[in-house]
Amino acid sequence: MCLEIQVELPVPLDHSLVRRCEEDVSRQNSQRSSLHRTSAAVCAGFRRRHNLNDSTLTVHVNLDQRSYDIAIGTDNLSDIGQRYSSQWPLTHAVVITDTNVQSLADVVTSSLQQAGVRTTLCLVPAGEPSKSISEASRLWDELLSQGTDRKSVVFAVGGGVIGDLAGFIAATFTRGLNFCQVPTTLLAQVDSSVGGKVGINLTGAKNMVGAFWQPQYVLIDTEVLQTLPDREYRSGLAEVVKYGVILDADFFAYLESNVERLKERDADVLREVIARCCRLKADVVEADERETSGLRAVLNYGHTFAHAFEAVLGYGELLHGEAVSIGMICASRLAESLGRIEPSVTQRQQELLVGLQLPIQVPDSENELLIDAMKSDKKTEHGRLRFVLPDRLGHVELVSGVETSEVINTLNACR
Ligand code: NAD
Repeated sequence: MCLEIQVELPVPLDHSLVRRCEEDVSRQNSQRSSLHRTSAAVCAGFRRRHNLNDSTLTVHVNLDQRSYDIAIGTDNLSDIGQRYSSQWPLTHAVVITDTNVQSLADVVTSSLQQAGVRTTLCLVPAGEPSKSISEASRLWDELLSQGTDRKSVVFAVGGGVIGDLAGFIAATFTRGLNFCQVPTTLLAQVDSSVGGKVGINLTGAKNMVGAFWQPQYVLIDTEVLQTLPDREYRSGLAEVVKYGVILDADFFAYLESNVERLKERDADVLREVIARCCRLKADVVEADERETSGLRAVLNYGHTFAHAFEAVLGYGELLHGEAVSIGMICASRLAESLGRIEPSVTQRQQELLVGLQLPIQVPDSENELLIDAMKSDKKTEHGRLRFVLPDRLGHVELVSGVETSEVINTLNACR
């Protein structure tokens, strides 16, 4: 027996919402309707006054007093001090980064210093184990010893680990500091830096302690992706494909026609792709900021399977995006076997994912363990299996009560 819950955004997505260089405009017009307005004259004026390169795309996340802009550009990292301090007063910045991207944090730090800001650099070891209570505790002590107060602003320079950890520090130190996200992995640029989920892990329980704490500003530079290891980059591409499947068939088609340029990390394509993903995620977050209506669940397409692969194989064996890539194919096959979609919908996803050099086959693992892992996933409701399944390209539904035997058949078919 399958129970279906329609997952519809309350307003139709308007994919022309990505605006070019509208920092001035967006602050003046915080109403949703303002997203449709572009003022070329104001934008040009802003760029001239601030001497900024003009390829920047801006996505506005409209959350009343917690609204913010995401600026997506190329070679814009060193603009951060000017961009931030021209909008908000700032005297002290705490830059939190990891050991692999310290050189990028140095660019941010010197840009802030040039804008007359005192900076404190906090370095944490690269990798998931840094999303821990011990690392958070060490950072709280460091912030205290550096005279951090409520006027200080935290800058998170790194991947999703740094964004989550630094955001959590910002949410908790002195009961809340402003913070800026400067995401440096593709996954962080299209996903974790948007939406305000911050947190750390407990032993054996990922993201178990955290908060919804929206950033004040997000600055994305496509150029930083040039140094990202191939596997990490491809892993981020899986999340990009996910947005197309769940919300935007036109975007999916755009990805299909730009596989080579995506593989080459072409800056023009990346700006468009990142901006579109941020817009799509922002639409979902605006409609369900704190994950209360169930709408935000659409973002979990492929994730019920993916979390099971990660748990059974051991975290770190598959990168998250790789697990999501396989998980999306499983979910699509499951939708097929339930008669919800035509095989061609799965076929297109397979071709795109393989074209982007992502895995699509279920790894060596026992079905029983995978099913147990799915049932104990924290997003499961009382052990009932729930899946986000497509009913066409660009649209998904949350489906509960899928029989275990159907899931096992799907796993076997995807091996
Ligand atoms: P990550 O932060 O560990 O980064 C991956 C690796 O790439 C690290 O070794 C990092 O040092 C390195 N790196 C980062 N930028 C680089 C660059 N430009 N050049 C070279 N190396 C670079 O991992 P991630 O995949 O970015 O993020 C995963 C984390 O994000 C997980 O903890 C996950 O829970 C979290 N997450 C959070 C949300 C959210 O909404 N908050 C959403 C999805 C994922």
